[in-house]
Order: sequence, then C-alpha cells, then structure tokens
Amino acid sequence: PGSEKSGRIAMKAYKMKALSVEEQKKLLLRPIIQSNDIMARVKPIVDSVRERGDAALLELTAKFDGVKLESTVINAPFTPESMILDELTKKAIDQAYHNIEKFHAAQVQDKALVVETMPGVVCTRFARPIERVGLYVPGGTAVLPSTTLMLGIPAKVAGCSEIVVATPPRKDGTIVPEVMYVAHKIGASKVLMAGGAQAVAAMAYGTETCTKVDKICGPGNQYVTAAKMLTQIDSSSLVSIDMPAGPSELLVIADMTSVPAYVASDLLSQAEHGTDSQVVLIAVGLTPEHLAAIEDQVHEQASRLPRVDIVRESIPKSYIIEVEDMAEAMRFSNEYAPEHLILHLEQAESYVSQVMNAGSVFVGHWSPESCGDYASGTNHTLPTYGYARMYSGVNTDTFLKHITSQQLTREGLDAIGHTVMRLAEIEGLEAHRNAVAVRINDIRRQ
Ligand code: NAD
Repeated sequence: PGSEKSGRIAMKAYKMKALSVEEQKKLLLRPIIQSNDIMARVKPIVDSVRERGDAALLELTAKFDGVKLESTVINAPFTPESMILDELTKKAIDQAYHNIEKFHAAQVQDKALVVETMPGVVCTRFARPIERVGLYVPGGTAVLPSTTLMLGIPAKVAGCSEIVVATPPRKDGTIVPEVMYVAHKIGASKVLMAGGAQAVAAMAYGTETCTKVDKICGPGNQYVTAAKMLTQIDSSSLVSIDMPAGPSELLVIADMTSVPAYVASDLLSQAEHGTDSQVVLIAVGLTPEHLAAIEDQVHEQASRLPRVDIVRESIPKSYIIEVEDMAEAMRFSNEYAPEHLILHLEQAESYVSQVMNAGSVFVGHWSPESCGDYASGTNHTLPTYGYARMYSGVNTDTFLKHITSQQLTREGLDAIGHTVMRLAEIEGLEAHRNAVAVRINDIRRQ
C-alpha cells in the first residue's frame, strides 16, 4: 500500500500476544541477502586488481564510476585547495572531531595488564596498534565526512602508523573537500580514489601506488562487503576486516511518556537511509490514541522529507509490535539485536542494564540517534543484521591487537613445572615436557 506516491505511509502493526512463536521468529529475521551472485561478480574484479594493480584499478574506475583518472592515489600532504570548506561546515566537523576523539582516546589503556598468577609467574598483556589500515568511505556523489571521522579517529588514537582512506571519486575526478579535510585531520597518508570491490582489493593486496594494509574497515554496498569477505579468506592477502555489514536498522521502545513527534522522527531518520533499511517500534502499553498519534506523525513527517521516495519503500517493510510490559519488550529487543536501540521510556536509564544485544543505545527522550551518527562521541559503524549478538561496533580496540607476555623466576618454574610436565605427558608432547624437565633438573641439582 505504501508504494503509491500519494498513499498513507504506514508501518505494519502486530500485537505480540496474537503472534505465534513462529510468527515472532519471522519478525526477527532480516531480509535475505543473496551473496552467491555478488561473489561471482566481485571475484574477477578482485583478481584483476591483484594481478594488474593500478592499470586494473584505473580501468574499473572508468567502468563503474565513469571517471578517467591519471593516477589512483592522492598522497599527503593534501593541498589546501583540495579541502576548502565554509566556516560553518568546518566548525561542525571540528566539534564532532573533538567529541569523537575524546571518547575514543579514553578507550586507550595506557598501562599494561600485569598479573602474578602464582608466586614467580607473571603474565602481562599490552596493546600495540595495527600498523597499516585501510578505511573505506562509501559513495561517489554522497558527502560522508562522518564515516571518515568514525573510522579515522579511532585509527589515529590507536596509533596506526599508516592510514589509507579509500573513496570513489566524483565525476570530475576529485574527492569531496569534506572527506579530504577529515583525511588530513586524522593524518591519512593516502587517499585512494577508487570505490567498490576494486578499492578493497587494492588495499588488501597493494598496488604500485596503494599501500597494502593489514586491516580494512568501513561500510559500503554489497560489492564492498563481498570484496572484504573474499580478501579476508584469501591467505595470500593476509588482511582482516572489521565486521560483515548489512542495511542499517533501528529498534525503538516507547511507553506512554514518549512524545509521538520524537518517536516518529527517530524512526524516519533511520528509514531514510535506504529502501532496505529496517525500523521496528515496540509499543509498551500504549493507548490506541497514543499509537495513532505516532502513526500520524510518521506519515506527516515522512511526506515532507526530500527522501520521501526511499521512506515509502522502507516504512511499509517495517513494523510496530504492541506489548504489554517492559519484560516482553526487552526480550524481543535482545533477540532482534538491533544496530541502534532507542529507549523512549520513563527512567530509560534504568533499563540499560537489561540490554544484552545492541550496537549502540540511545537513552531517553533527548537522545536522538542522529547525535550518535554524527557528533556526540560514540561510533556509528555498528553491527547490523543481528551480528550485534557477537560483534562490537568500531572502537579504538578495532585498530589494536593485544600481545601477552610472561616471565617466570626460577622459583616460579619450580612451582608450576610439574603441572606443565603432567599435562604435556597427557597430550603426548614429549618435547614440551622436556623443555621444563631440563630446567627443573638443573634447579634440583643445584
Ligand atoms: P559505495 O561506495 O559502497 O559503492 C560504490 C561503488 O560500487 C562504485 O565505486 C563501484 O565501484 C561499485 N559498483 C557499483 N555498481 C557496481 C556493479 N554493478 N558491479 C561492481 N561494482 C559496482 O557506495 P553506495 O553504492 O552508495 O553504497 C553505500 C552503502 O554504504 C549503503 O549501503 C549505505 O547504507 C552504506 N553506508 C553506511 C554507513 C554507515 O556508517 N553505516 C554510512 C554511509 C553509507
């Protein structure tokens, strides 16, 4: 019904108690992503960049982005002309930068973890940056300084020594100044003017001009995601990725204290991302009038949006579930594991302890998702598709690895030696047992 240009823009509506277990399970599912077909299209692109480097990259950029470039990379220092911005834009980016940096810098643990597990047995864990990282910023025509901030700042505060930013060029062969400005602020060494699978392949394998990186992070369309997965499983690339990415999602839990206009505005801020975006509203004990007010606001606000055509497709795929209490709401939310969770509730903060699965939580009536998307400090690159069950969003640790070390004293080895020798014996690994035994013999002899 939502597909006509003038029809009412409405979410589907269900009552939890009327749904069978099977029906509830169906609602938890995301639209199926057909990945086989995409993989088959992406593999030759990845192969050609791996085999022919920059030449392939230039051809593919001409083919898919319609731009004939002379070179694929802009090296730092970037020219001031490439990042000319009006004062208001610059101020907004600088403020966002400040907050995101403050939050991500606080995640760095300066001190190594040192634990003496037994007298004379000291175990340590310390962090080191991943040296070279590639950040994918989607969109040739889109202006996405926010994604550059969200990936670049944690990489910078983690201490990565080389940061490559990849993004498709505009039709005139340049990169949007907002992205160039942020690339400069995060200390990127190169901007790779390429998009899609070819950009991912260039960073995974390296080309004549593009550095081979150790990890590739960032969102993108299905070609980008497929290329990230493909290069990660190819042991010759020796590259890792942040997480599998899918269409953006939001789950809102609202009670009678919620403001219908705010709830609707949050639902729409997610629904405008793409036709495949999914938004869910869990209505907790709402009167029919309150729910109707939210639905009216969804229709009215949506009709006024410039991206109303996208919303007309995404909103009818989204749904409302009426539940009777918060226990039911939290159970469903935790099973759904949303990328974004907004709590439009009285004393919303008291429910945060019950959140088990979510990418990022927005607490109370004054915390729209938009703030986290851009400027409050938290990261907006988050797990979708239910992966919030086991993945974290991008954070400073994304760009670090943890190394452990240990040092045993003579007494320490004497104390633990028999345990190790016995376990090595059980596993039939004589050389392991012997590495302890030769030392213990010395200790005993002296
Ligand atoms: P993109 O940069 O991901 O992809 C553009 C590239 O796709 C092009 O350069 C081209 O090389 C490649 N491509 C296009 N058609 C192709 C084809 N037929 N075969 C092979 N390659 C092809 O930009 P996009 O397409 O606009 O997608 C952006 C995605 O990123 C969306 O899914 C959006 O939701 C997501 N996104 C997420 C965030 C976030 O932080 N979560 C932010 C912004 C965008």
